[in-house]
Amino acid sequence: MHQQYPVSRFLLLSIVLIFSCQAPPPIETSKNNKQPWAIALHGGAGTLSRTLMTPEREAAYRAALDTALMIGETVLKNGGSSLDAVSQTIIYLEDCPLFNAGRGAVFNHEGKNELDASIMDGSTQKAGAVGSVSVVKNPILLARAVMEHSPHVLLTGRGAEQFAREQGIQTIEPSWFFTQERWNTLQDALKEEARENGKHGGIFKNSDFKFGTVGCVALDQHGHLAAGTSTGGMTNKRWNRLGDTPLVGAGTYADDDVVAVSCTGHGEYFIRYAVAHDVWARMAYQNLSVQEAGNRVIMQKLKEKGGEGGLIAVDKNGNVTMPFNSEGMYRAYANPDTRKIAIYQE
Ligand code: ASP
Repeated sequence: MHQQYPVSRFLLLSIVLIFSCQAPPPIETSKNNKQPWAIALHGGAGTLSRTLMTPEREAAYRAALDTALMIGETVLKNGGSSLDAVSQTIIYLEDCPLFNAGRGAVFNHEGKNELDASIMDGSTQKAGAVGSVSVVKNPILLARAVMEHSPHVLLTGRGAEQFAREQGIQTIEPSWFFTQERWNTLQDALKEEARENGKHGGIFKNSDFKFGTVGCVALDQHGHLAAGTSTGGMTNKRWNRLGDTPLVGAGTYADDDVVAVSCTGHGEYFIRYAVAHDVWARMAYQNLSVQEAGNRVIMQKLKEKGGEGGLIAVDKNGNVTMPFNSEGMYRAYANPDTRKIAIYQE
């Protein structure tokens, strides 16, 4: 039996409820949200000596950067998450044979492609990464699955590939990653190594085809930051060498309260100096702007130590910086007011 309330008690209850209830939280939609958004991406700090760059080649790179940027912009403009913007932009760059990630990755000493990637969610500071995978079409997707569907941060080699299969992530014949240009670069590297009696320890240094990693950082309309990076590593690498790309804090870092960072360059230096985290630390502890922090790390510290490369970073307010100490860095950024694509120093 339902209890009957007299009308006067019902009225009293309604009045109490009206005056004691707080306003419901506003519904978050892309239309009523006033947060700015911003995105930056890179296609590496190598393969771009001006002497080798033809107008056609430059046009191809610019077109690819433009498409990648548009993919990320579209996600953010429509109120999508920074994680989706970063993942989708990097998937495109991995599938594009111009860049050293996914299809078009450089070859290791044995003539194989070993791919590394990482991603970090600034809102939870969760991260996922994979190293030395050779049959995963889009390593950034696997890194994201590690973050979202495993209790771990970094998986490598066969175990990572087994996890990919269990997660239904696309695997592919290793020949998918082959490009003639990267193959030729390995042959040059092997010849040079033989001439130098293996002096470079398996890492090819004297080439214009050094760093081509891809990366993306984004701030979405909900105030969340994310960063991701993906690479084939360095030509003629050996012994399952991993660079900075799959290492959170070295190649990738994101924290909603501060900044999102993605790096490219000579990975050994980026690991030693924890470059991505160093940018975060200088901003968090020294109160530096993203521009100042990025410059001090790349143009001062890393340069003094002999480390070549660059980074892209976006802070919690949407400010973007893209410093590099190499000849150039394929890069692009956009926010609601600006759009820019660049390769060399300007
Ligand atoms: N940082 C990458 C690595 O050392 C290379 C690159 O940026 O192209 O593996």
